[in-house]
Amino acid sequence: MKKSLVIATFNRHKAEEIRAILPGLPLELVSLCELPGAAAAVEDGATLKENALKKARAAALFSGRWALADDTGLEVDALGGAPGVRSARYAWEGCSPADNNERLLRELDGVPAWRRCARFACVMALVSPAGAESTACGVLEGRITAAPRGTNGFGYDPLFEVEDSGLTLAELPAAGKNGLSHRARALRAILPELLRLAAET
Ligand code: IMP
Repeated sequence: MKKSLVIATFNRHKAEEIRAILPGLPLELVSLCELPGAAAAVEDGATLKENALKKARAAALFSGRWALADDTGLEVDALGGAPGVRSARYAWEGCSPADNNERLLRELDGVPAWRRCARFACVMALVSPAGAESTACGVLEGRITAAPRGTNGFGYDPLFEVEDSGLTLAELPAAGKNGLSHRARALRAILPELLRLAAET
């Protein structure tokens, strides 16, 4: 029987991307949406790494299984690295992704294309029920567009044009995003740990 790994997220898009990026992984991937009684961890850490660890620790404690969590931030150079660790609640606490996108466009109003450089940074944290921990990071460089483009993906994807591609993440098909994304890079970096876990008896 395959060992199970909890994906510590209620975000169905994220869980779907993680499953698609790790298709042959010999672990059963279960998201928090599928675990009755699971609660969202409070994401009040000062860094992506702290938040990723908080989410993975909470899921490992709740489930008694290994847990994998991702915390992602969008860093915009012209905004001094904002929204960064506050990406989920950039517009206000409890806002929607559309509210965040509106605020981002407002903050960058009048900023020329060459000054709209940005990157997605993603930290993956893997935590065991006994408290063993590891983390890995993935980064994707790009630029914030003047208006949303594309309907795929989620969150800030319609506003993020991938460096040297001319396409936003939301204009790429799912397989295109999953081939190059910050999330895919972080997962690739932590893959040896996942394979080690799968191989443990
Ligand atoms: P978190 O990692 O779930 O805390 O997400 C932080 C914020 O970034 C949320 O507003 C998400 O919608 C957004 N976000 C996370 N991952 C991605 C992504 O792959 N593309 C676009 N937006 C994302």
